[in-house]
Amino acid sequence: MAKKILIDLTKLRDHHIAGRGDHPRIDGILSEHPNTNGRKTLRELAVFHITCRRCEEAPCIEVCPAEALEKDDQSMIVRHTNLCISCKSCVTICPFGTMMSDFFEHKRDPQRYFDLDDEKELRRFVEYNPGGAVKMVDMKENPEDNIYALNEQVLVKDIPYEKLKQENDG
Ligand code: SF4
Ligand code: SF4
Repeated sequence: MAKKILIDLTKLRDHHIAGRGDHPRIDGILSEHPNTNGRKTLRELAVFHITCRRCEEAPCIEVCPAEALEKDDQSMIVRHTNLCISCKSCVTICPFGTMMSDFFEHKRDPQRYFDLDDEKELRRFVEYNPGGAVKMVDMKENPEDNIYALNEQVLVKDIPYEKLKQENDG
């Protein structure tokens, strides 16, 4: 088995949109990430890592009634799961649609959420492989190809907001 999995978030999102009703929304759960601060879905970690605009006066932080959101030293948003009360105000106020309400579920269906820290679960996630979104790979982080490491084992592919902005401006 190659050492890492690569998750193409665009394909995973397409699967969710196309499969609504017929296929369950799936995700991976990770604990080994500098910002997990409790177990989080890989989509939550990936959006804060890659697609969040890191707003200077972040409205998500301002609106949170539980002071559950803050920025780390890279200006990356971190959610404190022990403080979050799942009110979803941050989802509503984010002007860029960065967050999804299912990030905040406390009880997760094990058929839909795969524990990526567990070898067997990780294999199940790869085998489930919706629309070619998940692959075993032997490679490193490569920002030129929009591939970023969430931890030692998990790479995600998505277009960071800086590149999207350049494309839109250019
Ligand atoms: S869902 Fe959690 S993080 Fe978001 S505003 Fe509510 S308490 Fe804060
Ligand atoms: S408001 Fe949205 S884009 Fe801005 S920092 Fe918060 S999550 Fe990121």
